[in-house]
Amino acid sequence: MIPFNVPPKTGNELNYIEQAIKSDKLCGDGQFSKKCEAWIEKSFNTAKALLTPSCTAALELAAILIDIKEGDEVIMPSYTFVSTANAFVLRGAKVIFIDVRPDTMNIDESLIEAAITSKTRAIVPVHYAGVACEMDTILAIAEKHELWVIEDAAQGVMSTYKGRALGAIGHIGCYSFHETKNYSSGGEGGAILINDPKLVARAEIIREKGTNRSQFLHGIVDKYTWQDIGSSFLPSELQAAYLYAQLESADAINDFRLSLWNNYYTEFSKILQPEQLPHIPNDLKHNAHMFYIKLASSEERAKFISIMKTHNIVTPFHYIPLHSSPAGEQFGKFSGNDLHTSVESAKLVRLPLYYGMNDDKQLEVVQAVRTFFLEE
Ligand SMILES: *Cc1c(COP(=O)(O)O)cnc(C)c1O
Repeated sequence: MIPFNVPPKTGNELNYIEQAIKSDKLCGDGQFSKKCEAWIEKSFNTAKALLTPSCTAALELAAILIDIKEGDEVIMPSYTFVSTANAFVLRGAKVIFIDVRPDTMNIDESLIEAAITSKTRAIVPVHYAGVACEMDTILAIAEKHELWVIEDAAQGVMSTYKGRALGAIGHIGCYSFHETKNYSSGGEGGAILINDPKLVARAEIIREKGTNRSQFLHGIVDKYTWQDIGSSFLPSELQAAYLYAQLESADAINDFRLSLWNNYYTEFSKILQPEQLPHIPNDLKHNAHMFYIKLASSEERAKFISIMKTHNIVTPFHYIPLHSSPAGEQFGKFSGNDLHTSVESAKLVRLPLYYGMNDDKQLEVVQAVRTFFLEE
């Protein structure tokens, strides 16, 4: 059986978890959290990185931090995970869905401006498959209309756009360290990157249940009190210890995944059309978060998935567009025409790709896929 994903393991996780246990300080913001945050700040050049229990929590923190209120509108693609939308809907916002570009499955930047109204507060680009959205255009639109840019970089850790790390480009970036992502903090985890220094102090308060405990720990105030709304957005030190082992091996994991990705690309570009394969625009480096191919239709995709299953290969499809889901209909609205989102998402299927996947397994996948297309 070839699984779709195996959570990454580097070998140092247990050692660091043991150190965390022996330190007798397991609540959030201990030494491993600090190490991970410093690593992220240095590697990705952000004003402040804060670990969170998930990317979902990071997005929720972001929505509180930019004061999203009842009646506000937030722009994002419909082709994304529910958490991208939920975080803003929880604050009372209406979600405005924009079509994707069929080449990258990212938000079509050329359609954003037409969706902006007097109620618009933020644009949320989602870097699908770790491939960057067209950030220069998005930042220029946001600046012109005075909007926040919150990057959903759940899949984008270690990717860059014109030399800048994904997640470190907008005002705020959100990472996921869920076990299905490139780096894990023991199953569940995330981080928020505060790139706008003006937001850092309040982000720390919201993350600490609305208190200024962080200032207290830094010796800035001599007791801490309730300052603002907030929640508990800190992961435990056990999660941070696990994550630190992964971040230390970030380059090795990234190189390994890229090599698998490149093998797939080389093999399948021999038998598939360019529009059936992922497209990596110029000026950016991706992190091989995902390798997908597109079939001719959802019927052909169903056939593909069932034939792969007979080879014991797991090839899941991905998001059901949010605007066509019950909650999406209730809390959102599609702006413009759905030319690509529904059609393209129904063709897409993901192939097994994980740190530690061996060459024999990849060859099995390649051969099964080749057989499917060549014998059809
Ligand atoms: C995985 C993912 C999330 C949610 O991440 P969690 O850490 O599981 O909360 C949000 N957005 C996108 C685009 C994702 O891929």
